[in-house]
Amino acid sequence: MISGPIRAGRLSSDACEADWIWDREVETESDDQAFARASASWDRQFRHLMEHSSFYSRRFREAGVAASAVGLADITRLPFSTKTDLKQAIDERPPFGGNLCVPPESVKRVYQTSGTTGSPSVLALTQADIETWTTIGTRTYFASGVHEHSSVLSTFGAGPFVAGHTYFVLSRIGSRVVPVGPGDADRVLFGMRAGVFDTLLTTPSFAQYLSNRLESAGEKIAPLRHVVTGGEPGGGIPAVRDHIQAVLGGTVNEVMGIGDVAPSLFGECPHQQGMHFCGGGHVWVEIVEPDSREPIKIEPGAVGELVYTHLTRQAMPVVRFLGGDIVRIEGGTCGCGRTTFRMRILGRRDDMFIVRAVKVYPSAILAVVGEFRPRVTGRARVVRRGSEMTVEPPVPLEVEVPKARLGDTELAAEIERAVRSALIFRCTVQLVAEEEFGAAGYKTRLVRQT
Ligand SMILES: [Zn+2]
Repeated sequence: MISGPIRAGRLSSDACEADWIWDREVETESDDQAFARASASWDRQFRHLMEHSSFYSRRFREAGVAASAVGLADITRLPFSTKTDLKQAIDERPPFGGNLCVPPESVKRVYQTSGTTGSPSVLALTQADIETWTTIGTRTYFASGVHEHSSVLSTFGAGPFVAGHTYFVLSRIGSRVVPVGPGDADRVLFGMRAGVFDTLLTTPSFAQYLSNRLESAGEKIAPLRHVVTGGEPGGGIPAVRDHIQAVLGGTVNEVMGIGDVAPSLFGECPHQQGMHFCGGGHVWVEIVEPDSREPIKIEPGAVGELVYTHLTRQAMPVVRFLGGDIVRIEGGTCGCGRTTFRMRILGRRDDMFIVRAVKVYPSAILAVVGEFRPRVTGRARVVRRGSEMTVEPPVPLEVEVPKARLGDTELAAEIERAVRSALIFRCTVQLVAEEEFGAAGYKTRLVRQT
């Protein structure tokens, strides 16, 4: 590996001279320019919604705001919408529902959602929507450092989920693509040994699994240049990131998106200081206080729930959509030159719990547990009894360990002390063997409900 200080905005191993910002006009504009661009698109989008979305036009009328157009500056006057609302709109008029704003014959691509609540749901795209997702995704992956000269193995399935859209993005960038699909460790390791790729797209859980597997087998493979994680938090947790970097090699950074909005919407640049917003001109983002849902200014240090509005989406646009992700806005200008805001995911709103009046996100626990590698594997989860938000200490934690560590009571006690000191609550740690924790996870649920 080439080491030393990275050149602005590039991976340390990237010697290429091409521009490292895909869409310089949008990604380096001032806040005022970004607002003006978004505002003009929103005025058209508002008319589109009033004319074609029976779902949103009804909601706007019910909120008493439809008599005149609502500008972007006043968007907080419009009601929030949730996954449940959108699902209901589909169920009332399947398959696409009352928020399909184009004739059904204009729908050119349909993804499905995993249907965490009940049956799966659909996401419809027109040709222009497909192009928009590719544009946003291209900015995102390009920001992470995936460029034309990269050789990329993707563990994302081509369908039915929106992560499959990444294949359009990689083609747009012009990278070599090695498609594998989720969870197929043997194919990934084969490709790694054969040297057919230098960049891995995966979940952090799966990257950790591959790292543990290589380490326990004592196998040394030529290091990768770049690992991009997505699909769940983890790539931004230092203990997780450092482990993957140490075993698989290269730079680990993360991307994030949300099915109802855009599958790749935030991308972390090689400076590893949080994910840049990459949806300028197509998506408007607000953050709101997680309890009161009052708007908060997007500025360094602010913590809030992400809220999304489509500015250009034709089929199935969302307005003030509550995504359920709680984020912290990261500070100041970035060495890469992008002016877009950066953020880190603290966790899913649904995974949050309260101990002694303090909010805890399970990803914070991963950060503490990860420091105990290699005595632990890096996976851990909180056991929650019932649906109560408030958990009385000691909080039960399950920590995955290699089999030989199962009876290590001193290890359990050390983790308990570390959690108490870092997160200020008492916990009881149960060490769980890899087989019991669940199959080599492609994704890890951070909470187990009993
Ligand atoms: Zn940056």
